[in-house]
Parts: sequence; structure tokens; C-alpha cells
Amino acid sequence: MPKSLLVVGSIAMDTLRTPFGEAKDELGGSATFFSTVASFFVPVRLVGVVGEDFPSQFRRAFDSRRIDTAGLVVVPGGKTFRWHGSYQGAMNEAKTEAVRLNVFGDFRPAIPAAFRRSRLVFLANGSPVTQASVLDQVERPALVVADTMNLWIDTQKDALLALLARVDGLVLNEGEARMLTGDPNLVRAGHQILERGPKFVVIKKGEHGALLVARPEDAGADASRRSVCPLPAFPATEVRDPTGAGDSFAGGMMGYLAGTGRFDLQHLVRAMAYGTVIASFAIEDFGLRRFHDLTIDDIDRRLRDYHDMLAF
Ligand code: AMP
Repeated sequence: MPKSLLVVGSIAMDTLRTPFGEAKDELGGSATFFSTVASFFVPVRLVGVVGEDFPSQFRRAFDSRRIDTAGLVVVPGGKTFRWHGSYQGAMNEAKTEAVRLNVFGDFRPAIPAAFRRSRLVFLANGSPVTQASVLDQVERPALVVADTMNLWIDTQKDALLALLARVDGLVLNEGEARMLTGDPNLVRAGHQILERGPKFVVIKKGEHGALLVARPEDAGADASRRSVCPLPAFPATEVRDPTGAGDSFAGGMMGYLAGTGRFDLQHLVRAMAYGTVIASFAIEDFGLRRFHDLTIDDIDRRLRDYHDMLAF
């Protein structure tokens, strides 16, 4: 039976520049990408904040999917979070050209009563203090996964380490894993993070895929072999805008887990495969555009191609 899935994070209007073009005031934000993708698998509960300037067609983009916006706060007279990012060359890293936090700067998420018993919780990129305040408001979730970024490792490391003791999983990119642990080796960095509390960590490596490091005791009889699992990225040929790849990965992963209700290692790896394949769609066009007409059949077809590529 599918489990309820809650996400708390940013909802943004992004201005994006890549070698393939530009887009202004595009619907974006970590919780937006996450909820859009996860809604292919299960209904999603969204908690976030926007300003009065948030266009009604963006609101309709949520309403047209299985996204419950009861936790979406519109601040009267406020302005929506703006992020301006650019990419160059192989587009491996976003350069933040400008950020205007606007209403997101004062975001103190209030989880609606109807969302407090969500079985799965995704704490999208945000301050670890804010992320912890979400956990204070939910009742015994079965699976809590957090995302983070270099900004928080830099400025709120203690709060982030404290949060790790309260989550089941952490997703972060390779630079952030090295920064958090001081270890350049990602397998060792993953194990170090596990010592702080999570059962698993997913280290994202952009075009080089993702690495799962899970606690051996959660890997059953196969512990030594299965507790570290690398997955390559789907070899994409059309890459126009990498924005949202990480949040789409997480949305695919958590959406699949919520759909199956099983969180063992085998399902985690399959969930990562979904995340990988969906991220490869996200980057084919600006913002969320590639998802407009995408269906779960398209996703499953690419998942089968990905699976065939990995069989040797
Ligand atoms: P990613 O999946 O890492 O590419 O995330 C892209 C999204 O993150 C963009 O749509 C941005 O609006 C959003 N974003 C950028 N900076 C921040 C921040 N400091 N906090 C929350 N969200 C952010």
C-alpha cells in the first residue's frame, strides 16, 4: 500500500543561463522539482512558501498533479524566492549569480495537522535548524531523508550533525560529502556520515552517477557485498539545463519508496535507479519543462534501457 509522502523545501522563480539558452522567472525550487517528480509515483504533500507575485499558472502546475498544496503559504505583499544560476562548459556545477530569499528567508514551516502523520518525509535543501523544526512537528515517520548543501556545512555544521542523528538517510553531492567529513574518499566519507546516525547516504556525482553507502547490518546476509552500491548516470545526449537534477533524483527515489512501502537495500537501489533515470529527463530542458508531457511509461521505458545497459 502506498505510503504518504511529505516534502518541505524551497519554491522558487529561477533565472537560468546555460550554453543552450536562458530562461527567466521559471518555476523552480527544491520542493517543486521533488514534488513534481514524486507525484508520478504517489500523491505528495507539499509545504512551502511563496509571495503574492507567484503566478497563478505555477499554482495550477501543482494542482494539475497529485500534489496537495494545503501546506503552501502565500505571504500577502511578499515576494517569492528568486534564484539566478548559470552553468558553463560541461555544466557540472551551478554558479549562483544572485539569490533573493524574500519570503523564503523567514520560512518557519508549519506542518498542517493533516500532514503530520506522513509516513515518509523529505527535508529538501534548507537550513538544518528549519529541517529539525519539521521533524518536531511530524509523528513517528517511517522514513526521513534529508538533503543539504555546502552553505549549511559552512555555516551550521553543528546543527547539521545534530540533524543526522534524527534522519534515516542523507542525500548530498560528492563535494559536500568531502566537505562534511574532510575525507576525499567517498566510500570512507559515506561510512563516516553513517556513524552520525543515518542508515544510508546517497552521494550524488553528477554525470558520474551516484553512490549508496548503507549500514551493513541493514544489508542482510549479503552485508559486505551489498552495503556499497555505485550506479552510473544514464548516458544522456541532450543536456540543456542541469537545474533540479538533484531534487528530481530525490523525488524519483522517494516517490518509488513511498509507492512500494519497502525500504530495504534492494528497494533502495531500485529507487536510486528511478532517481537516476528521472534526473536524466530533468536536464533535457529548462526548469521543469521536460516533465510537462512526460508519463510514467516514458520513465519505465528508460528504466528498462538503463537496466539493459547495466547487464553484463
Ligand atoms: P538542484 O537539484 O540542486 O539543481 O536544485 C535546484 C533548485 O534549488 C533551483 O530550482 C533553486 O531555486 C533551488 N535553490 C537554489 N539555492 C537554494 C537555497 N539556498 N535554498 C533552497 N533552494 C535553493
